[in-house]
Amino acid sequence: MLEISNLDVFHGKSQALRDVSLRVNEGEIVALVGANGAGKTTLLNTVSGLLRPASGSVEFLGKRIDRLAPHKIMKLGISQIPEGRKLFTDMTVRENLELGAYTSEAWKRKKETLEQVYQLFPILKERGRQSASKLSGGEGQMVAIGRGLMSNPRLCMFDEPSYGLAPKLFSEVIEVIKRLREQGITIFLVEQNVRRTLEVADQAYVLENGQIVLEGKGKDLLQDEQVKKAYLGL
Ligand code: ATP
Repeated sequence: MLEISNLDVFHGKSQALRDVSLRVNEGEIVALVGANGAGKTTLLNTVSGLLRPASGSVEFLGKRIDRLAPHKIMKLGISQIPEGRKLFTDMTVRENLELGAYTSEAWKRKKETLEQVYQLFPILKERGRQSASKLSGGEGQMVAIGRGLMSNPRLCMFDEPSYGLAPKLFSEVIEVIKRLREQGITIFLVEQNVRRTLEVADQAYVLENGQIVLEGKGKDLLQDEQVKKAYLGL
């Protein structure tokens, strides 16, 4: 579904990604794990069109997207749930959700999609008129995920959903991610919480200093000596 090939990305003169290649197969949960500053957000922002690669390519469903504007990429069916949620705190929960129905197609289906989001997170229906500034971290993450779903994506990219959440709440987010996959949404999950993420990933990649250093099935990487030592404290 998503094919990233030999990607080089810079922030000014500093190179953040070096020759990165990876693939996300339709229907899978694919993870990219790595430490702070490894380049994970840079990679997601390149896929969603916020950053331009210096070289390499990004293909989605067989079409090159690395020169497209972000709104066109979103229209093709890619949604990004940003690190730190990035809610509009002077707006209500419902207004934040509706902002995700950005394309004209999604706007037409807004009511129906909103009901699907409420089925996934019933509490958001109750909180609809409340200011987004009043939400707990877990509720805020629900709104961020719900907003990402409002564009009816085929591929959902999560940037560090564990950010600011207690482990139990992150486990709940993982359960939501599994449900979305069951509903036919492909997942690209970018995380620093390596253990929990590898447990759930069909396929996973490890990013270090802007380069992919390991790849394999999530469960296999959990047993990898290098991963155990560097990320699992074993
Ligand atoms: P985190 O988990 O902290 O978000 P990350 O793996 O997502 O880390 P990136 O945010 O992609 O990493 O950052 C990769 C590298 O690029 C880091 O060295 C970072 O300091 C640098 N970087 C990121 N954004 C910019 C920017 N706008 N300008 C300059 N350097 C940047």
